[in-house]
Amino acid sequence: MTEAHIQAQIDQILARVHDGGRISYDDALLVYQHADLLDLAEAANARRQQLVPGDTVTYLIDRNINYTNVCVTDCQFCNFYALPGDAEKGYVNNKLILGGKIKEALELGATRILMQGGHNPDLPYDYYIDLVDWIHRTFPTIEINAFSPSEIQYMSEIGGRTWHQTLSDLKAVGLAGLPGGGGEILDDEVRKRVTPKKIMTDDWFGVMKVAHELGLITTTTMVIGFREELRNRMNHLQRLRDEQDDSLKRFGVGFNAFISWTVQIENTPLSRSRFADEYGATSTEYLRHTAVSRIFLDNIPHISASWPTQGVKVGQMALHFGCDDFGSTMIEENVVSAAGAITKASPVMLPHEIHRQIREAGFIPAQRNTNYEILRVFDTADKDADLQTIEDITQAASKQGNWAGVTLIE
Ligand code: SF4
Repeated sequence: MTEAHIQAQIDQILARVHDGGRISYDDALLVYQHADLLDLAEAANARRQQLVPGDTVTYLIDRNINYTNVCVTDCQFCNFYALPGDAEKGYVNNKLILGGKIKEALELGATRILMQGGHNPDLPYDYYIDLVDWIHRTFPTIEINAFSPSEIQYMSEIGGRTWHQTLSDLKAVGLAGLPGGGGEILDDEVRKRVTPKKIMTDDWFGVMKVAHELGLITTTTMVIGFREELRNRMNHLQRLRDEQDDSLKRFGVGFNAFISWTVQIENTPLSRSRFADEYGATSTEYLRHTAVSRIFLDNIPHISASWPTQGVKVGQMALHFGCDDFGSTMIEENVVSAAGAITKASPVMLPHEIHRQIREAGFIPAQRNTNYEILRVFDTADKDADLQTIEDITQAASKQGNWAGVTLIE
């Protein structure tokens, strides 16, 4: 094929996107490989306008909380976990610590916690049910999003339950939704190499299908930079789009958002591999991937920019590559930070700062909940005046003396 012929095909494919049409796997692969980056951005923005019209960019105030880092799964890209018996690094946070973190998040205006942990063989099935029940009764206003599909699979195995029983039990005590973590590349060819003991592709989607059936809120993630080929990335996106079509048709609900980022490998087994230099992806590659995902995933409404791994400047640029959301305040993040993400240096971004970044990029900040319902639009800077600053929070924390005010409901 001549260059002119390829360009003509690209023009045709991107014109279809501008007209609101669906593109095929092969179309997406062609534009991924050959389209001009700015042409991709334009098409991704057109898709964003078809799905989420306007200039508003949303964000969520929430906190990532880890209940344990003990894990038996040995993912090659993880520096967060400790093996069972590692008394120095391993932990299981008790309710006082978890309650303190949630109370602090509430002080910051959080509407959600996102709670995940390792695959800890010492925690029985009832631990998870009791934990969600306790959080829900102690902090009834906070929305609980917890446990990626691999954790659901693990606790189901431990408890001898089906995924349906486990998710129903968790929902009954207050679970609102599942984060889309643990997906990395949803193509077993890649998973068997970098995360062979963790949930495989069919089961990841199987757990999420049950979550959709039960009406739980779900998001979906993707991590690139495992030395995978573009066809592996496209296999992930194709499966995701197919599963979303199926969930929407059968249950009327599906994934409400997609976010991708680049693998961080500092201090992980991958950093000691002879291919270490080949892992990861550049910011340009991240932006290209973001645009192709937006164009291809025409049935997932929201796409978030990943500032924690890319830095806020690339995060701002991602808003011009089809993203309509700036993620969350990330009051705390321990997993990708442990593997060298930019959040390690600056793990907190309070609403003031998020507003500044969104406005600088040319958009209007708006706070949302997990379901992407807008809670408040900050169309003028004077509306930021009553937001809490980090100084307010620090002062409040020191007055309360290590969160002694948390009431434990046992
Ligand atoms: S990524 Fe999760 S499942 Fe994998 S080793 Fe780390 S904590 Fe365990």
